[in-house]
Amino acid sequence: MKLISTLGAALALLCTFPLAHAQTWPAKALTWIVPFAAGGPTDAMARDIADKVGKQIGQPIIIENVAGAGGTIGATKASKAAPDGYTFLVGHMGYMGAAPSLYKKLGYDPVKGFEAVFRFPDTPLVLLVGKRSPYKSAADLIAAAKAQPGKVNFGNAGVGSTSHLIAALFAAQAGVEMVQVAYKGAAPALNDVIGGQVDAMFDQSNTALPQVQGGRMTALALTSLSPMPQQYPGVPTLAEKTLPGFEAATWYGVYAPKGTPKDIVNKMHQAYLKALGDKDWTQRMASQGIHLLPEAQYAPEAFAQHTAAEIEKWRKVTTAAKIQID
Ligand code: ASP
Repeated sequence: MKLISTLGAALALLCTFPLAHAQTWPAKALTWIVPFAAGGPTDAMARDIADKVGKQIGQPIIIENVAGAGGTIGATKASKAAPDGYTFLVGHMGYMGAAPSLYKKLGYDPVKGFEAVFRFPDTPLVLLVGKRSPYKSAADLIAAAKAQPGKVNFGNAGVGSTSHLIAALFAAQAGVEMVQVAYKGAAPALNDVIGGQVDAMFDQSNTALPQVQGGRMTALALTSLSPMPQQYPGVPTLAEKTLPGFEAATWYGVYAPKGTPKDIVNKMHQAYLKALGDKDWTQRMASQGIHLLPEAQYAPEAFAQHTAAEIEKWRKVTTAAKIQID
């Protein structure tokens, strides 16, 4: 009898544990895994948003950069973390959308291995070259690659990263071959484009802008459908001048390892929405060319659906554009 009641008490304790845990959360700092080198667009956005969300939940959010293999190393690590509400992944279109169709063996499942927590605003990309580049337009790059296949090379943030995928789509639509050079993040790749070791790169608007404004790089074209005259005056979209219909933007967001209590996921989402109420902040993001979304799209359920839909989309896109990992 005693044993039964002790067992009963233990079971009751186990059942209430996630609830009690969620009630005291967050009792310490959180970690967000960013699977690229520091200083790149994912890192910059994650640090900015982590700072604002951390202030709302009353605990700091520490960024851990776990770079390599286009983000898949960091995502694998995050999927194996304890689902206790203290470790999260900052995920994006590449390793949470395209990776299942690019990698034969992926160490995680973006849908079954994670709880979607909230989506970031989207970020269009900018086609960049170094200041001393002989290429003055996207058409120049295409013409050079047509004249000499393999002559033009593109830096990217790793196999399956956004910069890799968009450059591959660009080459496929233009009908040319470009050489892709993989780095551990956009930041080291940008350095080599600035230095002239690599010809061009697609980078997200938020980190491309200071390079262009600082005079270190030239923006040749935008992947958004509309031009961005405030941020990139005089820079055409790819769709309007070179590749009709071309449109691309990176989506990002926060994921938790599968099994993280729903209550914690909701608290994170609510904290994020509260942070977004700061109009000075959202205007600052918009001024970097970041596209704010309707509020409903930031929600966990909407973000989970978006992730699943993107995996299907990228299956078709990678097959049609013959994007493979060799
Ligand atoms: N998000 C970038 C990309 O996939 C990489 C980075 O943030 O460093 O191109």
